[in-house]
This record gives sequence, structure tokens and C-alpha cells, in this order.
Amino acid sequence: MLKKGEFSEKERYDIRTLMKFVGIFCRENHSGPKAPFSFKILDIKEIEKKVIPLCPDCTRLLTYGLTMRMKCPHNPKPMCKKCETQCYHGDYKEKIREVMKFSGLYVIKHGRVDMVYHYFR
Ligand SMILES: [Zn+2]
Repeated sequence: MLKKGEFSEKERYDIRTLMKFVGIFCRENHSGPKAPFSFKILDIKEIEKKVIPLCPDCTRLLTYGLTMRMKCPHNPKPMCKKCETQCYHGDYKEKIREVMKFSGLYVIKHGRVDMVYHYFR
């Protein structure tokens, strides 16, 4: 478990946005049973207080995404597209792209331009 206060503003922002984006995607696209998202290696309640219900697939994707964000060896983190590390592989890469595209458009349509994500552009 990581300790409180270890995150930079940028990391907090990225983590929060990643959670919101996967949350929106799941809410708009997936039905069926969902469970509130929790993350073992990090106290996400400290960063995002809202509970985000996710289906099992999206839970896996978000867990993967957050893990990769925490492990990012670059500081400051470059845009993923331009990064040489390419930490997303295979299915996860396809899925996270789909999520970013969908939820990116969703927040623009709903006027939340402040949330527009630069991560996977
Ligand atoms: Zn889902």
C-alpha cells in the first residue's frame, strides 16, 4: 500500500481522470452486475471519493490502467502515444483507446471540457 501524499498533482489528475473515464464508459455501454471499484495497492478514496460501479471487464481494465500509471518510469509522463515504453499491450491497448475515445467525446458533449483527456491523444 502506498502512503498518503506520495502523489504529485499530475498523478492525482491522471488517476482521477482514468477512473472517471472508465466509469463513464461502463455506465453508458455495459449492463449487468457491477461492483464498486477498489484498488489494492493504492488508497483511491484519498484521490477520488465518488464510488464508481464497474462490471468485471472494466474493473480489470481500470486496475491495469492504474497499475501502469503508478509504474510509469517517466517523470514527467509523456503522452502515451509518444512514449517509447508502450506499457499497454494487446487487448488492453485496444480497450483503453476505445474508452478514451468514447468518454472523451462524452465529456465534450456534456460540456466538461475541463476533463478532456490528453493522455492517449
Ligand atoms: Zn463495463
